[in-house]
Amino acid sequence: MEQNIDQVGAAALREIDSAATPDDVQEANVKYLGRKGLLTQLLRAVAQLSPEARPAAGRRANQVKQQIETACRSALARLEADEGVERIDVSLPGRRHALGSLHPLTQITYRICDIFTRMGFEVVEGPEVESDYYNFEALNIPKNHPARDMQDTFYVSEEIVLRTHTSPTQPRVMEKRQPPVRIIAPGKVYRCDSDITHTPMFHQVEGLLVDENVSFADLKGTLTSFVHQMFDPQTRLRFRPSFFPFTEPSAEVDILCVICRGEGCRVCKQTGWLEILGSGMVHPAVLENVGYDTARVTGFAFGMGVERIAMLKYGIDDIRKNFENDVRYLKQF
Ligand SMILES: [Zn+2]
Repeated sequence: MEQNIDQVGAAALREIDSAATPDDVQEANVKYLGRKGLLTQLLRAVAQLSPEARPAAGRRANQVKQQIETACRSALARLEADEGVERIDVSLPGRRHALGSLHPLTQITYRICDIFTRMGFEVVEGPEVESDYYNFEALNIPKNHPARDMQDTFYVSEEIVLRTHTSPTQPRVMEKRQPPVRIIAPGKVYRCDSDITHTPMFHQVEGLLVDENVSFADLKGTLTSFVHQMFDPQTRLRFRPSFFPFTEPSAEVDILCVICRGEGCRVCKQTGWLEILGSGMVHPAVLENVGYDTARVTGFAFGMGVERIAMLKYGIDDIRKNFENDVRYLKQF
């Protein structure tokens, strides 16, 4: 009987020792110690032995049972530790974390603000839901003025609008401060318009400088420096007479077409030039509306579309791409 027990024990230890996976160990455990296991059957047989033979055989069987249990535990520990080591392959490349990035329009806005703050302008912001007064009247656009037709306005109520331009920040800031005023005001604006070159919401940056002895030469110098920093120091630009109710005289600024270099192409509509911003000397009526002494101070103002600048700088042909949140598009910048 005891010989039998020893044989079964030795076979069990051999099997456990050669186990290649934790499952093999579990299998051996069941085979010998399970309810119908080989050793379990022997333990039952011990109970049938004569009283004289029983104690020795029982001791022997229990010893072997403990040996098998111990062997199973250490084999499991060894195999599981090995498995853990195998899972770490130090030659594999690390896992990259996906990083977000700034939207192209945010990048352009930051760049514009950066250029002007280095020229001494301060960044300010105004509300997007604006009163009719700041959006129009303070800017020399009274009710029934034909210039209101130039802008397809979203009206919230009779007196409240979604601002159609960033220009309301001009009277808002001047009301609170005395000259010199040098501000740059980026933000969202809204117009009832939607096609390949227009979206109902878009971005502008407004600029205003009011001080003594400010002339059109200052306007020209400031905007020329801006264009050269924003695009290329060699960029040619021209000032073309225009009309805005809140500036007089007014000028639109064109740059030589970045696509055809002035030869004429589809983008510049064969003119060789691309409009990038509107500007002018602040209309005296606007300065008087905020109580400034127009005999003492003058100023210039300008406004530009951020989407337009991004389009020219990055060659974006459809403005709506900026708002579709297509990651493949946004990743290019
Ligand atoms: Zn062109």
